[in-house]
Amino acid sequence: AILAAKAEGAGREVIAVDPRNTSRTCPECGHTAKENRPTQEKFHCQACGHTAHADVVGASNVLRAGLARRQAQPA
Ligand SMILES: [Zn+2]
Repeated sequence: AILAAKAEGAGREVIAVDPRNTSRTCPECGHTAKENRPTQEKFHCQACGHTAHADVVGASNVLRAGLARRQAQPA
């Protein structure tokens, strides 16, 4: 709620996103598996071999989920 208030004050938009699986889903091919996270920091897709920092993967998946949700529910 605090984050939402701050974002609104800054003229930003806040979209709540379900965070489940965002750090396990490959942003390249969509493959979701806990094996994609060999360590806390590392993301390594078991399907396509894509590698990245786990936080970057999580952030991009959250962003994509938020954008998809905004399209589904126009303000
Ligand atoms: Zn992949």
